[in-house]
Amino acid sequence: PDDAEDEQELIKNADIAMYNAKDLGKNQISFFSNELNEKVEHYFELKNHLDLAIKHGEFRLYFQPKVDLLANKICAAEALIRWIKADGTLVAPDNFIPVAEDTKQIIPIGQWVIETAIQQLKDWQDTEFKDLSLSINVSAIQLYDESFLPHLKSNLASSGINPAQLEIEITETAVITDTETAVKILYELKKLDVMLSLDDFGTGYSSLSYLRLLPVDILKIDRSFIASAKEGNVSNKILASIIALAIDVVAEGVEDETHLNLLLAHQCQLGQGYYFSRPLPLAQFSELALDLSLH
Ligand code: C2E
Ligand code: MG
Ligand code: MG
Repeated sequence: PDDAEDEQELIKNADIAMYNAKDLGKNQISFFSNELNEKVEHYFELKNHLDLAIKHGEFRLYFQPKVDLLANKICAAEALIRWIKADGTLVAPDNFIPVAEDTKQIIPIGQWVIETAIQQLKDWQDTEFKDLSLSINVSAIQLYDESFLPHLKSNLASSGINPAQLEIEITETAVITDTETAVKILYELKKLDVMLSLDDFGTGYSSLSYLRLLPVDILKIDRSFIASAKEGNVSNKILASIIALAIDVVAEGVEDETHLNLLLAHQCQLGQGYYFSRPLPLAQFSELALDLSLH
């Protein structure tokens, strides 16, 4: 009786509580609350705004360098999506990707990312950046969608770029949802000659048997390991063992010189983080890349 003014509203609110209970998993109970109502309203508002953002092309790729730590040179970049609203506000991916995954809007958004990244590699062909490789992030929903492989394949084919310069970053959690299917898709992906990396490595289940099963080329060690590693502690030992695995490793979240020295001591070849640069719009990235490749 306290949750609505009339029958219609009561049923609508009961419905919201029911969907929340379903979201929580099996056999759950949920009560309607204003907080829940606001959450649902925010969700639908964001969903509608994302539709418009897709229609009006409000997304941009930012680029963050991956640095060869020993040579102090940029050798690759990660493309990270940003949503620039009409009023100029910049929205970070963590604030819209989860909803876009839930609503499947990640499919058209992800296709745009693929097309734009491939176009970027193509644009770099006749420049001093022709050897840079570029990575993109792919969500589980996207990876498992039947349009994913054909779309990627046809875009690669018509672009004429070297597919090995495109790297696909997938999180461990994306693989865990359905390992058997994931293994199949990843092998199909490798047939296209793209590079594959496991993102945020160490934060999921990090099972070594996945590494044996999956055709991954690169591990991206999650920044939490780099942040907490200190001489002799467990994080540091885990870090050392991941680097010692005979797979290429990129350390994420290199924020200062201490982190850099620690990684150099472990002979980690590649790093990425604010110490080198934040993700940048294309023009600024190009300037930085020119600078850093001169060393
Ligand atoms: P990620 O792929 O692990 O990307 C690294 C994130 O760490 C980026 O956040 C980057 O800005 C941030 N980062 C880089 N260096 C440092 C550092 O030194 N310190 C700290 N504290 N953070 C650092 P961003 O750009 O906000 O992206 C967040 C996540 O959103 C990404 O994590 C990725 O999972 C997802 N994402 C980004 N772009 C896309 C996309 O195009 N498609 C999909 N599906 N997901 C994306
Ligand atoms: Mg990534
Ligand atoms: Mg990561």
